[in-house]
Amino acid sequence: MATAPPAATTADHVYNFNAGPAILPRPVLEEVQAELLDYRGTGISIMEASHRAPEYEEINAQAQERLRRLLGLGEEYAVLFLGGGATTQFDMVPMNLLTPGRTADYVVTGNWTQKARDEARKIGSVHVAASMEEERFTRIPRQEELRFSADPAYVHICSNETVWGVQWPDAPDTGGAPLVADMSSDILSRPLGGSRFALLYAGAQKNLGPAGVTVVAIRADLLERAPKDLPTMLRYATHAKSKSLYNTPPVFPVYVMNLVLAWIEETGVDVIAERNRRKAALIYDAVDTSGGYYRGHAEPGSRSLMNATFRLPDEEKETMFVREAAEQGFVGLAGHRSVGGIRVSLYNAMGLEGPEALAQFMPDFAARHG
Ligand code: PMP
Repeated sequence: MATAPPAATTADHVYNFNAGPAILPRPVLEEVQAELLDYRGTGISIMEASHRAPEYEEINAQAQERLRRLLGLGEEYAVLFLGGGATTQFDMVPMNLLTPGRTADYVVTGNWTQKARDEARKIGSVHVAASMEEERFTRIPRQEELRFSADPAYVHICSNETVWGVQWPDAPDTGGAPLVADMSSDILSRPLGGSRFALLYAGAQKNLGPAGVTVVAIRADLLERAPKDLPTMLRYATHAKSKSLYNTPPVFPVYVMNLVLAWIEETGVDVIAERNRRKAALIYDAVDTSGGYYRGHAEPGSRSLMNATFRLPDEEKETMFVREAAEQGFVGLAGHRSVGGIRVSLYNAMGLEGPEALAQFMPDFAARHG
């Protein structure tokens, strides 16, 4: 047997602040463990089952229904489980919806919308309705700052920019144009009213489950917009018609996601949303009461409840912060490589204890290294 890797921390409890893949609800992991070798009396693991078996068909249908209920989507939406990560949606959205002669509007609020915009430009005409780049992505644009093109094919936003830690407080008014949202890092973290979106998508690995499945919810009237020669696997309609069983789906990630969705249903999105507000407030209060030692990146009105980002007086202290915090059991706090600083990811599965403990560590660290 290979030797075990060195222990990452000497703490007896680990709080997982990873940005994604990220923390999963403990009861879900325990259920996965309990039925890993024998899925509900079948004698085999769900990983070994056919995706055409009734066991998986039930999981697939349940997960789609749960998402529909939790997101508040009517029967007019198709819920799809796709591969390729949220990044593939940067291509699939324009390939399916940006038809010749039309323009798609992108609101650029950080790395992920820059990438989405750049991919869309390879497919068709793109108009940037607002870009926060010059302000180093410190805020979400106000409604009156959005300059839409005439009759856009759709308006694309990212509801929460994971890297910079800015989040739309509410969905913008697009004047009737179909709204498309990348919700990878805040899906089901608050009741946002899914039917306000013509299409929403999310990689699972933050609030929904393990990496490997991407959720897409699309309003049925958009399914047939795609050009006729679009390759089969890249067409939303292919997956909608076959209920995401056109080819072999990511069976295990969908299975775990279904358990996470059951956990969200049992807990309630409202309860989760309130807890998310309290968790984020603990961290931002520690920033705001530090006398300037910690400097929050985002403007208060645009602060993300999922990814709290802040800087310390210098990079050396930031490195020290990450190291000392890890020794105390706070893992995953280093900011994204393009931004630096500290990022505290507070996804749904994170309870109050982690942020409470971190909010105590922060003034203590500042006092010792001020
Ligand atoms: N959009 C957002 C908001 C993200 O945080 C990420 C990173 N998980 C992506 C898109 C890219 O996701 P993936 O790695 O699943 O392609």
